Amino acid sequence: MTPIKAGFAVVRGNWNALRSRSCPRCGRGRLYEFSEVVEGTTYFAQGCNMCDFYEFTDSEAVSETLSVRRRQTLSALNEQGVREKLLRRYKWWSRIYLFASLLCVLLSLALLFNGNRYFGSAALLGMFVLVRAFLASYRFWQIREDRLFAPGAFKEWFKKGAWIV
Ligand SMILES: [Zn+2]
Repeated sequence: MTPIKAGFAVVRGNWNALRSRSCPRCGRGRLYEFSEVVEGTTYFAQGCNMCDFYEFTDSEAVSETLSVRRRQTLSALNEQGVREKLLRRYKWWSRIYLFASLLCVLLSLALLFNGNRYFGSAALLGMFVLVRAFLASYRFWQIREDRLFAPGAFKEWFKKGAWIV
């Protein structure tokens, strides 16, 4: 699973409110565009500000350049309280996922010792949830360290070992 696929950062800002459409999954949120550079490739996507829905958008269809997008996103981030709110949210999700993955591990062990054949499924689920926990930590780290849109940020985060926030 790539960092792009699993995690996303949605930064609210007035600049894109006019262009945003409502979320097809939860129906309450709005979709906001964001982009990120991973290993030198720019990915464009739209993410919901209420749930974890996101979808990729064709870079051809995106008229704005990355630099404009970046500037606007960062200025939205610097609005009063936005950064703090996002940091709190990612920290919260990171801990919830971490705790949930721990529960899955315990469950899988319990199933294993009872000879239940579903222990593998529980272990897989635990791994999936753990990835989500790390991705929330990654977003937290990116926002705190101003590393959104930074090439190689994922590698740097990985090496730093800031996996738990
Ligand atoms: Zn949604």
